[in-house]
Amino acid sequence: LNPLLTLNYEPALESLGDDYYDEVAAEEFPQHILRWRNDALLSDLGLNAQAVTDEHFINAFGKFQGRKPLLALRYHGYQFGNYNPYLGDGRGFLYGQVRATNGELYDFGTKGSGRTPYSRGGDGMLTLKGGVREVLAAEALHQMGVRTSRCFSMIETGLSLWRGDEPSPTRSSVMVRMSSSHIRFGNFERFHYLQRPDLTKKLLDHVIEYYYRHLVSQKDKYALFYAELVQRVAELVAQWMAAGFCHGVLNTDNMSITGESFDYGPYAFIPTYDPYFTAAYFDYYKRYCYGHQPNICQWNLEMLQEPLKAIIEPTDMEAGLASFNEYYGTEYRRLMLRKLGFEQLNHPEADELLELTITFLKDSQVGYHLFFSEMARTFSSKWRDDPACVLHNSEILPAAGTSATFDNWCIIYHKILNHFDLDAIEVIAQTLAQHNPKTVLLRPVIESIWQPIAEVNDWQYFTDLIHQIQSKQ
Ligand code: AMP
Ligand code: MG
Ligand code: MG
Repeated sequence: LNPLLTLNYEPALESLGDDYYDEVAAEEFPQHILRWRNDALLSDLGLNAQAVTDEHFINAFGKFQGRKPLLALRYHGYQFGNYNPYLGDGRGFLYGQVRATNGELYDFGTKGSGRTPYSRGGDGMLTLKGGVREVLAAEALHQMGVRTSRCFSMIETGLSLWRGDEPSPTRSSVMVRMSSSHIRFGNFERFHYLQRPDLTKKLLDHVIEYYYRHLVSQKDKYALFYAELVQRVAELVAQWMAAGFCHGVLNTDNMSITGESFDYGPYAFIPTYDPYFTAAYFDYYKRYCYGHQPNICQWNLEMLQEPLKAIIEPTDMEAGLASFNEYYGTEYRRLMLRKLGFEQLNHPEADELLELTITFLKDSQVGYHLFFSEMARTFSSKWRDDPACVLHNSEILPAAGTSATFDNWCIIYHKILNHFDLDAIEVIAQTLAQHNPKTVLLRPVIESIWQPIAEVNDWQYFTDLIHQIQSKQ
């Protein structure tokens, strides 16, 4: 018996009925080569990694043996600001829903598993590079404390794909993603478009029952749901911003109703602090650039009010959305101070330090991640004794040398350290090390592991990189 098939599958979404999805079949692939299995998630599901063989993964998530129904979810969405009613799962489906040991229900969702009624002109496939990139992004973000879906498996299929942005055919993969839900803002938008408030309400009740359970018996549960979604999304964006992450395609069909981050296409980690850094080459107007992410998510939440007006008072939703900036600012401040070494910092210099940090990173264009990992690497209690010691033997000095902002930054950092005793200084060193990994998925890093895969099918660098990410090196 395949332990991946005998998990406790719950037909949660299926029980909503076929207004919400279409039954589909998976593509039959010529080959099934398991390139990645996420054993960390097996234990979250109560499975022992030793008891699950590669063959089990291949049969379940490459050959799709023995599981039915497979559901392509129906949704619409605002893409780059324009409403698109011709969406839906075009290259993936909901494979099944299972309870993890933490009691939460999770979705297994596929990507690259073949055509569906929503594929339009697309081939329903995922490139191998796309699969590799999503595996890496999800693991890296997870380790950086971002609330994210994760990849469960990635299987190479033996198919060749033609992609417009590549000169020759490229390899293909089918991926399975484990996420808190695949219900998107766009699932609700669709029912507004179809003028079916009854189906909107049924979906909202479902979402509250499964993903906002603590609200079920509250009198104002609908308004409370929206307010909590605003908070979850605001905190998620703060997590991206602190992690230096640019999602790339924040269309409303890529916004999860549980406030989790998912669907990693042309994402990028910012090389330097640049609000206009844009991840997707086809994002001509920089709509989804790094610095716009908070505003864009706020706009997406505002668009979601339209379908929800059938159920929730507009004034309640406006009030809920008005808290976005405060949630965002509070969380961003907390996370950035933590990257600077401080779990809690109530001293008046804290905000000045933050401002100087951003100004310095923006003006100097020192590597965003390098700055913090160098802090972690070179930190010492001497920084408390003399401002000239702060970052004095770090790699960022050449770029920082003549900057008045940097000098001020060192003085402030030194001044703050003076509030702490030696034990507390040790905690700062640990906090810096914990929250500023040396390994960051900058594009050259991804290319350097992709090249040996593409050229000589060498997966060792990929495996090593994942290991480094997972062990927070
Ligand atoms: P995305 O921008 O990846 O979130 O995808 C937007 C929409 O396009 C979704 O409905 C996808 O299912 C669909 N889509 C993306 N790529 C493909 C493809 N290769 N084949 C079919 N549909 C696709
Ligand atoms: Mg998508
Ligand atoms: Mg996508």
